[in-house]
Amino acid sequence: MVKLVVGNWKMNGVSAQLAELEKLVALFPRPQTDIVICPPATLMMAAIKIVDVGPIMIGGQDCHVEPSGAHTGDISALMIKDAGGKFVIVGHSERRENHNEDSHTVCAKSIAALKANLKVIVCVGETSHNVPVENAFADIKTLLDQSIPDRVMPQNLSIAYEPVWAIGTGKTPTIEDIAKMHSRIRRYLGERFRTDTANLFRILYGGSVNPKNAAAILNTRDVDGVLVGGASLKSDTFSEIIKAAEGIH
Ligand code: PEP
Repeated sequence: MVKLVVGNWKMNGVSAQLAELEKLVALFPRPQTDIVICPPATLMMAAIKIVDVGPIMIGGQDCHVEPSGAHTGDISALMIKDAGGKFVIVGHSERRENHNEDSHTVCAKSIAALKANLKVIVCVGETSHNVPVENAFADIKTLLDQSIPDRVMPQNLSIAYEPVWAIGTGKTPTIEDIAKMHSRIRRYLGERFRTDTANLFRILYGGSVNPKNAAAILNTRDVDGVLVGGASLKSDTFSEIIKAAEGIH
């Protein structure tokens, strides 16, 4: 499966930040990995111009459940698609926490994104730290049950497993725990959807991925890519993570 490496710039970057995207475009003219940058909405159109028809893709960090309407400050999946975006992240823990988004809303956003022909990345993660994977999975299962729509094509929906305690903290689960959780999520997908499609979903890991830990994480069984926050802001760190996904050392 082709790995998926996603950079989430969050609420970071004014126009000068686009120089980092220009460098990535120059560094990876023919990547063996799917690369997506999710800039703030203000930079999306300019970012799409920079990547042009090349292989690096642009995505949104969130979308509204409706295609249009009286929703001041929001953007819709249709708008992201119209701008030239290819992906959208939904259910990021910062959206869940700062905007009180529950999993039912996340599911509605996923449906809106799929309707707009965007590929969707659904984030799930437990808040409790230092609990056995089996216990953490109980929380993850509820999030997956409620956040993922019943009718999905695995090519169009990826899951980002992002333990909330690992985001922006420099802490990560052990490789063994990442492997256990990803394989548990894969099993869940096989039980909920057709068994033979479980392997077609990409399950990303997110939470303090950096150039030092990227290769070990990306070489872990059932890890099909990474969702990267802080380390995606600079092309020199993000390119090292992409190289790790491509097996370049
Ligand atoms: C994220 O925001 O999804 C994330 C993983 O952030 P960081 O890489 O900075 O932990």
